Amino acid sequence: MVAAIAFESVVKLIAFLAVGLFVTYGMYDGFSDIFQRAAQHDDLQKLFGFSDVSGSQADWILLLIVSMMAIMFTAASFRSRCRKCQRKTSRKSHLAVSALYAGDQHFCAADCPRRALMHFAGQNVDADTLVCSPFPMIAQQEWLTLLVFIGGLSAATGMVIVETIALSTMICNDLVMPLLLRLKFLRLTERKDLTGLLLAIRRGSIILVMLMGYFYFHFVGEFFSLVSIGLTSFVAVAQFAPAILGGIFWKQGSRHGAMAGLIIGFAVWAFTLPFPSMVRAGLFSETIITQGLFGIELLRPFHLFGLEGFGQISHSVFWSLLLNTIGYVTVSLFSRQSGIELNQASLFVDIFKYTGGVEVSSIWRGTASASARDLHDLLRRFLGKRRTDEVFTEYAEVHKINWQKSIIADTDFVNHTEQVLAGAVGSATARGLIGAVVKEEPLSLDEVVEILNETQQVLAHTRELEEKSRELEELTGELQAANQRLQELDRMKDDFVSTVTHELRTPLTSVRAFSEILYDNPELDINQRQHFLSIIIKESERLTRLINQVLDLQKMESHTLDWKISQVDISEVIRDAMAATSQLLAEKRIKTAVDLPEKPAFIRGDRDRLMQVMLNLISNAIKFCDSQTGKINLRLQQISDHVQIDVQDNGIGIRREDQEIIFEKFHQVHGEVGSQPGGSGLGLAITRRIIEFHQGKIWVKSAPGKGSTFSFTLSRADQSAETEVNQSAGDQK
Ligand code: ADP
Repeated sequence: MVAAIAFESVVKLIAFLAVGLFVTYGMYDGFSDIFQRAAQHDDLQKLFGFSDVSGSQADWILLLIVSMMAIMFTAASFRSRCRKCQRKTSRKSHLAVSALYAGDQHFCAADCPRRALMHFAGQNVDADTLVCSPFPMIAQQEWLTLLVFIGGLSAATGMVIVETIALSTMICNDLVMPLLLRLKFLRLTERKDLTGLLLAIRRGSIILVMLMGYFYFHFVGEFFSLVSIGLTSFVAVAQFAPAILGGIFWKQGSRHGAMAGLIIGFAVWAFTLPFPSMVRAGLFSETIITQGLFGIELLRPFHLFGLEGFGQISHSVFWSLLLNTIGYVTVSLFSRQSGIELNQASLFVDIFKYTGGVEVSSIWRGTASASARDLHDLLRRFLGKRRTDEVFTEYAEVHKINWQKSIIADTDFVNHTEQVLAGAVGSATARGLIGAVVKEEPLSLDEVVEILNETQQVLAHTRELEEKSRELEELTGELQAANQRLQELDRMKDDFVSTVTHELRTPLTSVRAFSEILYDNPELDINQRQHFLSIIIKESERLTRLINQVLDLQKMESHTLDWKISQVDISEVIRDAMAATSQLLAEKRIKTAVDLPEKPAFIRGDRDRLMQVMLNLISNAIKFCDSQTGKINLRLQQISDHVQIDVQDNGIGIRREDQEIIFEKFHQVHGEVGSQPGGSGLGLAITRRIIEFHQGKIWVKSAPGKGSTFSFTLSRADQSAETEVNQSAGDQK
């Protein structure tokens, strides 16, 4: 068939070229002459520009779009038919023929009609026949006329052959055969030889197609030019555009959407193009065109919904494609895609992701196999013995196998047979037929979906894993931080232990040393003896104090200290503390000034602990004051709901950077630990804990050489603070 069409094209081409040359150089004086003369006609002049091509520019653009779509979607079907040819050479010849075909059609379509129109300007002639006959006839060139006639005839036959065969193949493969094979009672699958049936169906449908063509020509076609009939079908083809383009580029496009779009599109197309032509042919009443369907103004086939100003074709293109697309998109958006659709959509849209650009092979399972005999039998039923033998031998030669001996056909062989069979009965049917023969079940779509789902799950898992490992990393970070903190705490504990033992050892050593002296020297005089004993007593007092402090601190930190809460007059506590330290003050000749309100200042708290705070602050002040010049001021102020106590000295002061750390355990900033007699570095730590327990604050204001002021606050008992203290006392226990 391809050879026949190629030959026909050559004949046609020669005929057209002959006419073209004859007209251009025989009747006129070359191209420029033709164009110059054409420009003199007003109604031809406009054909040289775009201003008034066929009504309006919108018309022109819409026609262009439709033609583009027609090329795309009919070319696709051409290619898919072409794919069935297995040999590369035949594919090439196909392409060559189609190129030739296209070339000479352009030649005749673009050039000849213009010349003809010019020649017959003002006369009423049939535009379709312009090219074929008039010129040579006018010039009375009989031989040329004959050649042109042969060319035209061959063009027409070629067209008829190509189209009828294509159509009848489609009717046979995609309509009749699947239907017949599905009708189980016909038992077609059991029949030995189906070639006869196939041929009959093909031939029948060829006759049917030609008859339909003839009837259309007879009843409808004569009212229209060839061009408008062609355009009518172009518009029909264009209805596939939304669904096909959507299928390629849009994942959400669904089957229902595509169906809806197609149905709407075709309905609008049918109503606006073929239907009016039937009306013109007299099959329906003329009023439908003038007054609309059922007399509704909006439903006039050429002015749908009142649209004016378009040509008939572009009017149809506009409405059918618009409504088609709207239908496709809306239904797609509102319908749920099935699993299969989802996966097919992602397979189509992300085709390169799945294949890396490689053509997807058929999805028979890797182990699909069948007996070569079975395949041969199957193919023979549709192609006949001769053709089947040919196919098999050819395959065997290429793959260097002896198919008659090889009992099992491999996946590749099965695929090949399927493709050949698809050429005869269509791909859907071929798949089903092969599936019945092949031992291994073909991968059903469900299975494909399952595989895809698994892949998706794996992907999801990977994502989950990534998430988890990120979380783990975070946790590890936290753990590391916690670990560091623990190590630090551990180090602090070690420090604490070593400091405590160190602190304990110093007094212990001196106690022991002096005791030994006393023990070894009974003859020591009484004064010395007294002196040593007083040191021993002082040191053991220091030991006791230190141990008590450590115990206190430990209890406070572990919240096991037994607080004895009661109503306390804080002025009285201050006075008692002063009295307790009066001896020390007198020894160092330190002046004091105490500023207390006359009325008692009640707070709720642990009296002994508050006493401890005062003693600690006062003894620190004494310790860091110079004797003789030293001066200590004590002040109690009542500020709204709390009292503030200041202990001010004019001693050595504390550097800014040390003012916070002196409240921590074992922090002594003046000299080495233990070098200050009576100091342990625990006093302020304990003080702060006691104040904080009473919900107060403690701070220091100081500068080196300018003395220090330690201040703390306590809530007053007559305020609501009372309950709070009680409560937290309970909590602490
Ligand atoms: P210590 O029992 O050794 O005095 P504290 O915790 O009471 O321990 O004090 C910690 C450190 O704070 C002291 O070693 C000292 O360096 C500093 N300090 C405390 N009170 C004063 C003050 N009134 N003047 C200057 N330095 C002070």
